Amino acid sequence: MLCLGIESTAHTFGVSLVDKGKIHSEERDSYTTESGGIIPRELAEHHTGVCVDLVEKAMVKKPDLVAFSQGPGIGHALRIGAVAARTVSLNCDVPLIGVNHCIAHLEIARRLTKLDDPIMLYVSGGNTQVIGFESGRYRVFGETLDIGVGNLLDAFGRSAGIGFPAGPEIERLARGGKYIEMPYSVKGMDVSFTGMLTKARALLKRHKLRDICFSLQETAFAMLVEVSERAVAHTGKEQLVLTGGVGANSRLQEMCRIMCEERGAEFGAVEKRYAVDNAAMIAHTGLVMYRSGCRTQNTAIKQRWRTDEVEVTWR
Ligand code: AMP
Ligand code: MG
Repeated sequence: MLCLGIESTAHTFGVSLVDKGKIHSEERDSYTTESGGIIPRELAEHHTGVCVDLVEKAMVKKPDLVAFSQGPGIGHALRIGAVAARTVSLNCDVPLIGVNHCIAHLEIARRLTKLDDPIMLYVSGGNTQVIGFESGRYRVFGETLDIGVGNLLDAFGRSAGIGFPAGPEIERLARGGKYIEMPYSVKGMDVSFTGMLTKARALLKRHKLRDICFSLQETAFAMLVEVSERAVAHTGKEQLVLTGGVGANSRLQEMCRIMCEERGAEFGAVEKRYAVDNAAMIAHTGLVMYRSGCRTQNTAIKQRWRTDEVEVTWR
């Protein structure tokens, strides 16, 4: 069974054709800026500009199913993906299935790392969650109380004159930096980043950018590893998977790996291409869901669709 997946929750519009064991095509185009963050109107123009071409390129064969990112995400972006998906589904006369974007990150991570029942640290621009499967749902054990860790990096980058996305540039700048104390904000199993953002912005006038980048990374990542370790310990799941765009950061990978080694847990990081937003994960998850009997009645987008609202019938 061939499934065409469409991803469009935020900066990336992606289309991919997948069957059980193989990715047949994988096309994507991401919105970027030289300075400043995502402007929703420009983002919508980007997605409408690229969507037809990407669908045509990726649809190397006629699909049997169309899966799309139904949420959570930016309204304008989600709507364009949903319209594209409905159009293909009508044209090819095949069913349409709505996929939760966060769950798609999880499923592709399980598939690629071959870790079957991990705790997942999912760190992207908009999302920061520590997730694990318990009693038929992906439970969120801990999450950000305000902004995602990627958003912390991008918002700081904006103030420092770095374009979007700022994470890779901050990683590069952080090498060889010295530590400046930052607000370390873990509340139970949750984390908060806005205090650190305020502090980092204030430091820009008096400190080297290199030192602020280093300190941001060390503090934010230590908070994430602390919460992840507690989730691993409490659930007894001796596996950790790191994914989402910030999961591409080699320092965060190293910190997770050290924590796992110290407690004898397995660690897997998803390769960058499939850690960032991509359509192969949507197609893969749509396929797994459809096979287990899931059907989507209402294809309206869900901007605030939570990971733990989805009943997981395929595990
Ligand atoms: P996603 O929404 O999953 O595609 O992730 C996008 C986020 O990942 C953006 O906030 C980027 O700044 C961030 N990001 C990408 N690469 C890196 C990196 N090497 N280090 C830290 N953050 C990164
Ligand atoms: Mg994502």
